[in-house]
Amino acid sequence: MMIEDIERVLDSAERLNPQLNSFLSIEREHALSRIEAVSAQTQPRPLLGTPIAVKDNICTKGMQTTCGSRILGNYKAHYDATAVSRLNDAGAILVGKTNMDEFAMGSSNESSAFGPAKNPWDPERVPGGSSGGSAVAVASGVVRVALGSETGGSVRQPAALCGIFGLKPTYGRISRYGLVAFASSLDAIGIFGLTSLDAAAILSVIAGRDPLDTTSADVPVPDYEQTINDDIKGKRIGVPRELFGEGLEDEVRHAVETSIDNFRSLGAEIVDIDLPYARYGIAVYYIIATAEASSNLARYDGVRYGFRAEGQHGLRDMYMKTREEGFGAEVKRRIVLGTYVLSSGYYDAYYSKAQKVRALVKADYERAFNGCDAILTPTSPSTAFKIGEKSDDPLAMYLNDIYTVSANLAGVPAVSIPCGLSGNGLPIGTQLIGNFWSEALLLNMANVYENNFPLGEKPLIFAE
Ligand code: GLN
Repeated sequence: MMIEDIERVLDSAERLNPQLNSFLSIEREHALSRIEAVSAQTQPRPLLGTPIAVKDNICTKGMQTTCGSRILGNYKAHYDATAVSRLNDAGAILVGKTNMDEFAMGSSNESSAFGPAKNPWDPERVPGGSSGGSAVAVASGVVRVALGSETGGSVRQPAALCGIFGLKPTYGRISRYGLVAFASSLDAIGIFGLTSLDAAAILSVIAGRDPLDTTSADVPVPDYEQTINDDIKGKRIGVPRELFGEGLEDEVRHAVETSIDNFRSLGAEIVDIDLPYARYGIAVYYIIATAEASSNLARYDGVRYGFRAEGQHGLRDMYMKTREEGFGAEVKRRIVLGTYVLSSGYYDAYYSKAQKVRALVKADYERAFNGCDAILTPTSPSTAFKIGEKSDDPLAMYLNDIYTVSANLAGVPAVSIPCGLSGNGLPIGTQLIGNFWSEALLLNMANVYENNFPLGEKPLIFAE
């Protein structure tokens, strides 16, 4: 990539943004000075000149990091997240920060304080969330790769709704240093790629132990591109049939069933498995995630950084007005819910019970992986819905995460692979969930699938 290539990326980002709203900032000056600097260097670098978009809850030094929230509306980070500094060292060029649900709470991008990003396949529809802006930046052809974050499906679900590849790695695979905390025991940086091969190149660079994040694991990082074309003959794919029932749209079921047949035709062996605790995933997730969020978001108090309300009388009033004006409705709902489940008298009934069920969800996976290499389910129960369709119904919105949250609860890696289009031309994703540290296998299976069964169509709104 040369200066002209980066200019073309920036131009298309600027041209499409009025329609798609996928970028909260386009970092033209930064990108141009970076490409000049990296082009001048002679040592080989794995991502030399690769343009990348980064979700706005990942810290980028000197650049805005708003988390899609008014409370951080004019906040500029003072340091780079480890993932960002590793990308920079590898020669990648950050071109912009992407739109997201406020503090990554949502499945549609509609809770962003800066208006929702739009789905490039049909701009009247949501791109999914919470990393919707990153998904759109890739799906609309502006960049081939983007960073997002996952707490309960925020990379895989928008990847499915936008027809691209999305990866949530094993908990601890990528450092969380500089990823603004939502629910620390679930949070992970994830990767969008136009293809799994694009994402593999990024993962190879950013994965691995980081002394700045004590939960990052000291597990060797393979070269994920090296095994990506391996034969997948004989790989055992477990299918939990009980998850293909109620609430799943017919067209999604059909496309995901076809993906099972396709994997079979590639030589994979399909086996039936049970995940008896999966159906508690949503309930457990919305207790644990809100509990941790209520604690993590206590730091936005108008004192140390970020937004402070005007016209306040005394400290207590300042806290209250700042949080009242700075947070949106969904974030407030979660803080209230999370505070409630942690309060004395309810702690045992909700929070500690949820922790026990979380252990059972994890045990489900451990048991299942004794008999298979990966588990296949739909990524999302529906295709992209209309903007506004579910925004007044939090429960309907939470049900979007039914197939994704349990991988976060268990800590195992998972990917979403495009597997077809609905009758009205909207993308559908199939999900593969792997055992701990099996990203190389998931990328390999996704790559072989994409090469043999490409989606073959581009969205309505596409750069070029
Ligand atoms: N949609 C889920 C939620 O609203 C997941 C969000 C995420 O993964 N960040 O919590």
